[in-house]
Amino acid sequence: MRQQEIVIVGAGISGSVLAERYACQGKKVLVIEKRDHIGGNCFDYTDENGIIVSKYGAHLFHTNDREVWEYVNRFTIWQPWEHQVVARVDEQLVPVPVNRNTVNLMFGENLQTDQDMKQWLEKNRIPIDQPTNGEEAVLNSVGLELYEKLFKHYTKKQWDKYPDELDASVLNRIPVRLNEDGRYFSDRYQAIPIGGYTRLFERMLDHPNIEVMLNTDYADLRDDLTGFEKLFYTGPIDRFFEFKKNLQEKLEYRSIRFEFESLDMEFFQENSVVNYPGTEVDFTRIVEYKHFGNQKSSKTTISREFTVDHGDPYYPVPNPRNQQVYESYRREADKLSNVYFVGRLASYKYFNMDQAFRCSLDLYHQLEEESVVTTNTGLD
Ligand SMILES: Cc1cc2nc3c(=O)[nH]c(=O)nc-3n(C[C@H](O)[C@H](O)[C@H](O)COP(=O)(O)OP(=O)(O)OC[C@H]3O[C@@H](n4cnc5c(N)ncnc54)[C@H](O)[C@@H]3O)c2cc1C
Repeated sequence: MRQQEIVIVGAGISGSVLAERYACQGKKVLVIEKRDHIGGNCFDYTDENGIIVSKYGAHLFHTNDREVWEYVNRFTIWQPWEHQVVARVDEQLVPVPVNRNTVNLMFGENLQTDQDMKQWLEKNRIPIDQPTNGEEAVLNSVGLELYEKLFKHYTKKQWDKYPDELDASVLNRIPVRLNEDGRYFSDRYQAIPIGGYTRLFERMLDHPNIEVMLNTDYADLRDDLTGFEKLFYTGPIDRFFEFKKNLQEKLEYRSIRFEFESLDMEFFQENSVVNYPGTEVDFTRIVEYKHFGNQKSSKTTISREFTVDHGDPYYPVPNPRNQQVYESYRREADKLSNVYFVGRLASYKYFNMDQAFRCSLDLYHQLEEESVVTTNTGLD
């Protein structure tokens, strides 16, 4: 029988923040992680080419949340990194999200000012008052040609559905820039951790009050865990209840299959991420990790990403059926008094990293009524 005060399922961002916070408060914390490593989907490692690669896809930190930024800075050193993405269209590389250069390159235009771009969009977009699906949302925003070349097939590859089969909200807020800003994100703080994300998690969890059990599924330990004060669960909410006979409906997720390749050449492509929005290949993008933080090696490592139905749960599928199933689990979760569901899998919601940090910090505050910056556990 284990007698920890705080039990945490999952050693990703959501679990690690709560572990760190409670350990600093003097609580004995047990973290249970079914994978053989900490860090959740942010986990990275140095490969045979001496390059830091992310096992579950490239992770770029970006936030406008100053408190979260200060919090993550306690544990590691960050280098500024403004991520850029290009897409291969008709044998050339064009910036995404769409900006003035995208249009100039794809259509041989010579748009010079924001006003020129505005006029181009006005001429090309197909105005639809209340878009009812993803296709209408994109047509309303950028028009038919950009829709066909950048959005239609990319969406099909990502969701296995064409935009007209998806809710307008999925594509409603696609960013379109009038200027030449080629950054993928526009947040105030954009950075990557020097030495990788795993180091950040190692430091967060490096505390005498924290015990981490890797290779351990919560389902196998459930009956051994007694007498805890609080349990935080950051795994998929449907799996938590799978032992209940009346709650058997599964939530749907999209997953990604990563095909890593080591190449005996200095660089494979011009940019860290190249999207493939066309039908000529099945993958959505190729990531070349060496570009991140300008890493040095005589070789290079790339990863082709294929979005698939089965595998680790990555992206919740936003549709009414899944929302309804999620609500039924949520109601069951609300009946439990000392068990808390937190993080992207337990909330069945896509979170960026900063949102995951924010949610766990908020939950901790709400439960413990403390201010964030109390104890310094990071670098000294
Ligand atoms: C491909 C991809 C790329 C992304 N890129 C970015 C990006 O560039 N920028 C950004 O801000 N965000 C990005 N994100 C989002 C980011 O990964 C998440 O915000 C973050 O991982 C959420 O942390 P979490 O702790 O909630 O979940 P997770 O990282 O999924 O951690 C949950 C942990 O719980 C464990 N677990 C689950 N069930 C059990 C169980 N039964 N027993 C024990 N352990 C269990 C899992 O193994 C996992 O380690 C990306 C996500 C994906 C999928």
